[in-house]
Amino acid sequence: MHRLNLTFAVIALALVSGCKNNDSSMNNPFFENWSDNHGAIPFDKIKTEHYKPAVLKGIELEDQEIAAIVNNPEKPTFQNTIEALEYTGDLLGKVLGVAYNIVECNGTDDMLALAEEMQPILSEHSLNISLNEKLFQRVKSVWDEYNAKNFEGLTTEQQRLLKRRYDGYLKAGATLQGEARERWRKVQSEMDSLTLAYGQNVQKATGEWSYQLDPEKDLEGLPDFFRETLKGNGYKLTLLAPSYRPFMQYSARRDLREMLYKAYNSRCTSGQYDNTDVLRRIALLRQEKADLLGFESFADLQLTNKMAKTPAAVNNLLGQLLEAYRPTAEKDVKEVADLAKKDGVNDLKPWDYSYYCEKLKTAKYNFNDEQIKPYFALENVKKGVFGLATRLYGVTFNKIDVPVYDKDVECFEVWNHTEGDSTFIGLLYTDFFPRATKRPGAWMTEFRDQKIDQNGEDIRPIVQIVMSFSKPIGNPGDKDYTPSLLTYDEAETFLHEFGHSLHGLLTRCHYPSQSGTSVARDFVELPSQFNENFLGKKEFLDTFAKNWQSGEAMPQELIDRLHAAETFQAGYACLRQLSFGMLDMKFHTLGANSNKPFDLSVVENPAERFPQLANIEKFEKEATAPTTLLSPVEGTMVCTSFTHIFSGGYAAGYYGYKWAEVLDADAFAVFEKEGLDNPETAKRFRHLLESGDTVDPAELYRQFKGADPSIDALMRRDGIIK
Ligand SMILES: [Zn+2]
Repeated sequence: MHRLNLTFAVIALALVSGCKNNDSSMNNPFFENWSDNHGAIPFDKIKTEHYKPAVLKGIELEDQEIAAIVNNPEKPTFQNTIEALEYTGDLLGKVLGVAYNIVECNGTDDMLALAEEMQPILSEHSLNISLNEKLFQRVKSVWDEYNAKNFEGLTTEQQRLLKRRYDGYLKAGATLQGEARERWRKVQSEMDSLTLAYGQNVQKATGEWSYQLDPEKDLEGLPDFFRETLKGNGYKLTLLAPSYRPFMQYSARRDLREMLYKAYNSRCTSGQYDNTDVLRRIALLRQEKADLLGFESFADLQLTNKMAKTPAAVNNLLGQLLEAYRPTAEKDVKEVADLAKKDGVNDLKPWDYSYYCEKLKTAKYNFNDEQIKPYFALENVKKGVFGLATRLYGVTFNKIDVPVYDKDVECFEVWNHTEGDSTFIGLLYTDFFPRATKRPGAWMTEFRDQKIDQNGEDIRPIVQIVMSFSKPIGNPGDKDYTPSLLTYDEAETFLHEFGHSLHGLLTRCHYPSQSGTSVARDFVELPSQFNENFLGKKEFLDTFAKNWQSGEAMPQELIDRLHAAETFQAGYACLRQLSFGMLDMKFHTLGANSNKPFDLSVVENPAERFPQLANIEKFEKEATAPTTLLSPVEGTMVCTSFTHIFSGGYAAGYYGYKWAEVLDADAFAVFEKEGLDNPETAKRFRHLLESGDTVDPAELYRQFKGADPSIDALMRRDGIIK
């Protein structure tokens, strides 16, 4: 799963503020112009009570701006409609940019309560815009005019902007009339409650299961850190990740692993939280949406504005990877099975895999995070990561003293120094340490999008990267001082989020909805995952990976072992991802195999239209059969708890993880061939980072590489081919 979250999931976490409605616009910092320090946010002046009046005022202003567009007596044009829409909602964007971030990074009780209170108000505001029929008619009129003349008179970026705006309405059902419109509303409303119910079932089934371990007998094989965790929890084993994963990895009790595996993989397959009917119905309703809009399947509908574009392209990639990785994956499993045999386990089951895999890894590579961490002091890694951007793109980071929302937050001015020119690029805030009011995980977020405003001024972006590294112990100079020391994975996460932030910072677009990271979901992980590739490279490690006490460089022998471990079980891991991707595509291409066209009658029984859904377990096992390496266990399924596709935003999109991996490995291979510090190569990649969504991503990638991506580089990186 990804650490990204840069769309911050438009998590309906809205903002509110106290109920001090008597607070006038006087002294509300959101109503002031933030011009000091390139628009740095005046966190010292913003108080909780400032959000609500600013949000309400922001909504009021945007409503007025939209009304002005709708009531414009002139004939709709690209400028007075599509472009004008780009410049509405400035104040609301300014408040929410700060608010979303504070809710996630410093979500005190009053902020969370306000967010909850404001959520319906913001939802309604957004619906008022997307369902505004008069506004849609203006957009459609502009679309029809340009569509008829093959978009003549618009630049490429304007064509994309118009298409994206029109598609947005199309996918929201705005073009439907009469009976179809009524049906659409019903489908949409039923779908909203079903996806919510699906997610809640998974959450409850996961949260309510537990098993009481006997500390005398049931802890065999468990490492100290996990015993401590269990002790703190009264020796209750649960299905939550911090309990499930280490138990499957370390427990020497095969019977308990089997019990835990079966409990986890049979969640929501029957009983109180049964999701089988829910997901059948979701799959059917999604197909109905596709039918209503004239698409063959829901996947066809979802993929129109993605890089992949069609289900055929997705299935082609998944099929290619399957063929290439399957033999290695079989060897991977055999290696684990051979080790298990030495332990007397002759029939490797799914609940044995993690356990013997962990043993195999230790036997083969013999290293752990404790050996790596002294070389990864945060201040050193920071130098390495920032320095990488300086070498590749001529970008520097200058720490500035501005108000922040927590003492652990820092702010940097980012400057460009290329071809003798020094220009300001944007502001980067960093928030590295956990706090009680901060959501776990790591992500990049944008306080302010880049755009050319209506006066022609380039408004530069303000971005932030957020992580949860362990804090330093003591203060520098103290006898017992220990800096924040990162694990290998944490350093990789830093590079990942920093890659997103460069995408956000270097952007040079005209329209705000196209700038920075506002690109297709199967393209957005390219800049971030690309950056991760540097961590394994000696050239990069040599720039910063020094022991924080002795100053000695990371030994070559340790780097070699790190390298070797990178391809460990890569075949198995790939097939697992492919099985999720294939299952997702199977559920969302039902229409392609249907001989019963949709006729606007309400289909009450999904299996009547799609007989293959009658037995969900069978459907899943058939869909994933090509990727199966260990005999499937009766009564277990993934799809009853596959929240990514049935209650998250990844329907017909799970493939995106692999898609972006192909791209990042391919792009990095270009650098390796032309030189990791080659300025010409970096310049071409920078162009890709600057372009946002102004160019079709496939075309943008071709401009960088001079050719389409291939899967060879990924296979080489994973050790599948030499
Ligand atoms: Zn990411």
